[in-house]
Amino acid sequence: MNNDELRVKGARHHNLKNINVNIPKNKIIVISGLSGSGKSTLAFDTIYAEGQRRYVESLSSYARQFLEMMDKPDVDSIDGLSPAISIQQKTTSKNPRSTVGTTTEIYDYLRLLFARIGIPYCTKCGRKISSQSIESITDSVIKDFGQKKVLVLAPLVQRKKGTYEKLFEQMKKDGYSRARVNGEIIILDDEFPKLDRQKWHNIEIVVDRIVASKSDKSRIFEAIQTALKAAKGSVLVASEKDEKIFSQNNACPHCGITVGELEPRTFSFNSPFGMCNQCNGLGVKMEFDADLVIPDKTKSILNGAIVPWSGRFSSFRRQELRAVGKKYGFNLMTPINQIKSKHIKIILHGSEDLMKFSYESKNSESFWEYTDAFEGVLNNLQRKFMETDSEAKREWLKQFMRDTPCLTCHGKKLKPEALAVKVNSKHIMEVCELSIDSSYEFFNKLELNETEQFIARDILKEINSILYAGVLSGGFAFVLQIYAQKNITPAPAAIIFSLEGVFATIAAWYLLNQILDIHNLLGCFFILCGVLLSQLLPLIKKRYS
Ligand SMILES: [Zn+2]
Ligand SMILES: [Zn+2]
Repeated sequence: MNNDELRVKGARHHNLKNINVNIPKNKIIVISGLSGSGKSTLAFDTIYAEGQRRYVESLSSYARQFLEMMDKPDVDSIDGLSPAISIQQKTTSKNPRSTVGTTTEIYDYLRLLFARIGIPYCTKCGRKISSQSIESITDSVIKDFGQKKVLVLAPLVQRKKGTYEKLFEQMKKDGYSRARVNGEIIILDDEFPKLDRQKWHNIEIVVDRIVASKSDKSRIFEAIQTALKAAKGSVLVASEKDEKIFSQNNACPHCGITVGELEPRTFSFNSPFGMCNQCNGLGVKMEFDADLVIPDKTKSILNGAIVPWSGRFSSFRRQELRAVGKKYGFNLMTPINQIKSKHIKIILHGSEDLMKFSYESKNSESFWEYTDAFEGVLNNLQRKFMETDSEAKREWLKQFMRDTPCLTCHGKKLKPEALAVKVNSKHIMEVCELSIDSSYEFFNKLELNETEQFIARDILKEINSILYAGVLSGGFAFVLQIYAQKNITPAPAAIIFSLEGVFATIAAWYLLNQILDIHNLLGCFFILCGVLLSQLLPLIKKRYS
C-alpha cells in the first residue's frame, strides 16, 4: 500500500459510475470535465464528505451534538484520508471584506469556544461572574422563597429532544423516586413516561420538597448539595408560582444574577436559549412606518392619504376616523400637512379617551354602534400583521414597514446574557465583526492560561484552518506572508476548491498562480475542480513542471 495516495474505490454517489481513483498526496490535483460530469460529486460529496464525516466522528459526543454530519457518500472505500483534512471553499461567496461571522462554520466553532472558555460578566453590575458556593445558594433560596414551599430539583434535561428512557432508568437506579417531566411530577416506578422523540423536554430529579425557612437550613443545604451533584453544578428551585436556577459556577455574588452553564446554544441566535427576546434573533424589528403609511401629505384622508386604509374596504375605517375627527376637531377633507400634529399623533397612535363609533354599510343593510377608544392606524396595522393567517396579506402589509435596529440587542441578535460573555474582552458578535485579517490576529494572540489552552486547542485549530481557507480566496499574498513570517503550524492538510460560476475564469487563473506558490511553500494537498479548469491545464502543467 502506498501511503502517499488517497484511494477512492467504487464511488457511486449521484451520477458517478463506480469510479476507482488514486490521488497522489502533496500534488495539486485538478478535476475537470463538463458541467454535470460529476466533478463536485467526487471532490465534495464523496472525498470532502467522508473527510468531514470522519472528522466529526473523531470528536467527543459533546462537540458532535451541534456539528452537522454530512451524509455518508456512496462509495466502497476511501483510504489514506485522515479525519481532519478537508476544507470546503467556494470562491464565489467570499471576498476580502467579508467578516468572520459570514462564515457559518466559524460561528459554530466560536460558539463552542465561548461556551468553553468565555468569561461571563453580570448584565446588571458588570462584575465578573464566578462560582457561587452551596452556602450562598442556600442563603439566596431562603431569601428569595422565604417561607414558601419549594421543590429542590436537579435539572438534567433542559429543552432537548429525545425519549430519555435510559435516563429514567438511571434515576431510579440512583434511588430517586420522583421526577418532574415538562412541569409535571411523576413517580419513578416501572412505567416511565413515553416522550415524543421530536419534541423538546425538560426533565428534573425531585430531590426534596421543603419549606424555604431558616429553621430548615441544613436540610435545604443538603438538598441543594445533592441536586448540584446530580445536575453537574446546577440546581432548580421551584415554588408554586416561580422558579429560579442557581449555578455553582456562574452567578454574580452581588446581584445574584445567574448565567447558568455556558453551552454552545447559549450563543445561538436561532435557539430560544440564545436569541434576543425582542427581535427573535433577527437583530432588526419590522415596524410600520408613518411615512410609508402616509406617503403623500398633501392628500386628505378622504382622498386616500392613509394608503393601507384606502381602497375597497375603507368605508368602515372612514366612518371610524370621522368619529375621531368629530371628537377632537379635525376634518377628513383637510390635507394631512394641515392637520395639527397632536391630531396626527392620535390618528397614528390612537387615543385613550372613549368615544362612540357607529357604522352603516353602503346599502344600509347593517348598522351598529359601539363605544371604545380609537386604536390608531399604526397599532391597527401591527395587530393585523400579527393576527392574519394570510401570507399574502402579510406580504402586502410589509410594504408599509421598515426594518429598525432592535433596541434591546442593537442588532447583535443575542440575549444580553450571551453578549456579556467575553473572550479576551470581546463578545462573540464583536469577534464576528472582525475582518478576516484582524480576526487572524485576534485568534493567534489570545492570551490563555494552561487549562484554557488545553480546552481551546482543537477548536482554535479548526477556526484557524477555516480562516486560512477564507483568506485564501481573498488574499493569498497575505496568507503567504503569514506563513512565511510566522512559520505557522499546522497548515491545513488539504484544501479543496470549487471554481464554479461567473468568477471561474478570472478567479481560476488568479488563484492558480497563488495556489502554486502556496503549494510550493507548504507542500500540502490541493484538489481543484471546475468546468473551466480544462482550459487552464496546459498552463498548470507548464507552471508546475
Ligand atoms: Zn452583578
Ligand atoms: Zn434584539
